[in-house]
Amino acid sequence: MLYNHLSINEQGHLALAGVDTVEMAEKYGTPLYLLDEMQIRTKCWTYVQSMRKHFPVGSTALYAGKALCFKQMYPILKQLGMGADVVSTGEIHTALEAGFPASMLVFHGNAKTDDDLRYALDKRVGWIVVDNPEELERLNELAGEKRACQKIMLRLTPGIDPHTFEAVSTGKVDSKFGLVIETGQALEVTGRALEMKNVELMGFHCHVGSQIFDSKPFLDAAGVMLSFMAEAKQKYGYNAQVLNLGGGIGVRYVESDPEEIDIDKVLSELSNYITNQCWRMKIFSPAIFLEPGRSIVADAGVTMYTVQSVKQIPGYKDYVIVDGGMTDNPRYALYGAKYTAIVANKADRPADFPCTLAGRCCESGDVIGENIALTRPERGDKVAVLTTGAYNYSMASNYNRFGRPAVVMVCQGEDRLVVRRETLEDLTRCDV
Ligand SMILES: *Cc1c(COP(=O)(O)O)cnc(C)c1O
Repeated sequence: MLYNHLSINEQGHLALAGVDTVEMAEKYGTPLYLLDEMQIRTKCWTYVQSMRKHFPVGSTALYAGKALCFKQMYPILKQLGMGADVVSTGEIHTALEAGFPASMLVFHGNAKTDDDLRYALDKRVGWIVVDNPEELERLNELAGEKRACQKIMLRLTPGIDPHTFEAVSTGKVDSKFGLVIETGQALEVTGRALEMKNVELMGFHCHVGSQIFDSKPFLDAAGVMLSFMAEAKQKYGYNAQVLNLGGGIGVRYVESDPEEIDIDKVLSELSNYITNQCWRMKIFSPAIFLEPGRSIVADAGVTMYTVQSVKQIPGYKDYVIVDGGMTDNPRYALYGAKYTAIVANKADRPADFPCTLAGRCCESGDVIGENIALTRPERGDKVAVLTTGAYNYSMASNYNRFGRPAVVMVCQGEDRLVVRRETLEDLTRCDV
């Protein structure tokens, strides 16, 4: 099995953290997102402990809520001493409703509106990561109107290509995110921020991309960012207190993916590299922020479906068609992401039926995976798709007016509903 919290029980059913996934599918209906709470807590704790061990005081792990966001995530983060990265007023609202402290929120976005900025200021969000010069000017004015001084960081594009999919690579020079170092824009905007009265520049942010399986892109990014900090110090006498290196640590979706990465080892390497570079460049060693999203929640998740039809087209291909699809997992349709699937109620039988796992939406591209080997299923069987904790529920839509599935957390043999399934009434709630 891809992960060791997955197993096959005495009934031959797939179990997640010891809980029978078929029983869960029957109890809550399908499609259904299942999450192993212990797996999430363990991942959070790995980041928190490693960061305490390797980085200076003030360093913080921020969970990137865009990977998976609902109220009950936030008490877990709060309890384990993590902050959170938020990218919309919706995510801020969710965190605050769950009792998460605003001071531990870091607000991102490359197109924050005036309303977004006012909302963040009113709610006293701890940090705003400014993406562009227009946002900086406007934030300074709005903070001035409220007689506030907002802590900010500037998002920079370090020009690093982490060799992942184009769609999830964000640190290259031609990215739509952030201020470009190479053209001098970043240094100029830094100078402007330092003159302003209603923002306090705390440091710099970058995020090179996603699905990274080794330390190199992080070391490269840290190197570029530290050189930039040395330049800012030389030009303006400014010592940045914080360096935020974003998220991006990879997870395994299929057996052919690289080995799972040892987070503690990568952070230890990063810490040594940063300490040496700071010494060499004669700058203060900054506190480090990291923003893991996928690596916290992806492998905790399993999506359950019920097979509706097995369509065989002799000489062409065979489809297994389920009661979900791109509405609950758009990642194959978006960028060809690969997944591992199992017939959960026949998990002890050989997977010798190559097929395309397709959904119920009115789009030919509504596929969860191609060339997947399953045990030959029949109508009513339960299919489990693994590693769906990140960017599945958070990307779910109501296309074709399907309601979004429920989310259930399992922990120590118990299950609890954390997001209820959307009803037909929910689907017309906003219609007038
Ligand atoms: C997406 C994103 C993250 C999280 O990335 P993961 O690959 O899920 O770890 C963190 N920070 C920023 C700014 C992001 O855009």
